[in-house]
Amino acid sequence: MPYKGRQRVFWAVAVVAVATAGLLSPSDAHADHSPPVRASQPRTDQFEVAGFGNLDRLNPASKTLRELAIFPWRYVVEPGCEGPAADEVFETLQAAFTELSEKVNIYFIYDPGGWTLRGNCGAAFAAVAGTGPVIGCLCRNFPYNVDIDINIIMADYFRISQIAIWLHELLHALMTWNEQYGLDFRASPGWRDVMNTGSESRHLLEAVELERWARTVYPHPVAGAALVVDQGRAAVFYAATNDRATRIAVIIETAGFPRVWAGIYGQPCTSPGVVCGGVDVPLLPDTCFWVKAENSLSFRFADNLVLAGCTP
Ligand SMILES: [Zn+2]
Repeated sequence: MPYKGRQRVFWAVAVVAVATAGLLSPSDAHADHSPPVRASQPRTDQFEVAGFGNLDRLNPASKTLRELAIFPWRYVVEPGCEGPAADEVFETLQAAFTELSEKVNIYFIYDPGGWTLRGNCGAAFAAVAGTGPVIGCLCRNFPYNVDIDINIIMADYFRISQIAIWLHELLHALMTWNEQYGLDFRASPGWRDVMNTGSESRHLLEAVELERWARTVYPHPVAGAALVVDQGRAAVFYAATNDRATRIAVIIETAGFPRVWAGIYGQPCTSPGVVCGGVDVPLLPDTCFWVKAENSLSFRFADNLVLAGCTP
């Protein structure tokens, strides 16, 4: 029998075996380390539109981040806005980059063709941001375009306020995060969050933001997984994760050796059912196989391991 034909037979047998044996139940899945939304949070985590849903799927920057952990950027000072204020706003931008790099593992890569972070002022700022009480905005066709304009009068503020404002605008750009302030830009009282306004928003990333990061960035563990060994070959099959996963890593542990990535990725899938994806694995003795839904921002931080099975 030609190899292709044999492979097809193997997979057909394997899928039947999975379907009859049933996948390991989702209760075997580890938690995905995503704490629930706190009861008092004023708004949804990400921007949503009734009848359409979450706007994050329209954001090309969040897609690049999940795939590569990179946010390409350039800083541009609008003509007529040059000077010490624009320079200080650039310094506080770099402090915000450092905070995000350290806490959530993003690589901010300078790129002349990257997203434009603009030090703006006066009439040019009002032309894009309006004349309301706005110090910064994503006002150039967000969420398709995540360029940020900051009014350089921000340099009059405390540095921690500037950094927090950059974090606020950057988190709109990076992951389509929603506002957490009230109507007319008034601060939500008692809600400590960089996505709020006012004194409750002026800090570096803390628990509430890191919890939201896990909820909005980390994939769900696959809903089930199974190891199938047949005719001297082995494969792992898995059920759905969510659309935040960019790859399914196969993790192995052979008795007497540390747990490692097997050097194998599968394609993630989101369609319901017992099985939506699978990948061949080496048939190793005395070895356990896990599947791990992940992306470039989650893989170091979210456990997500689901046991597929072990060989004798
Ligand atoms: Zn905002």
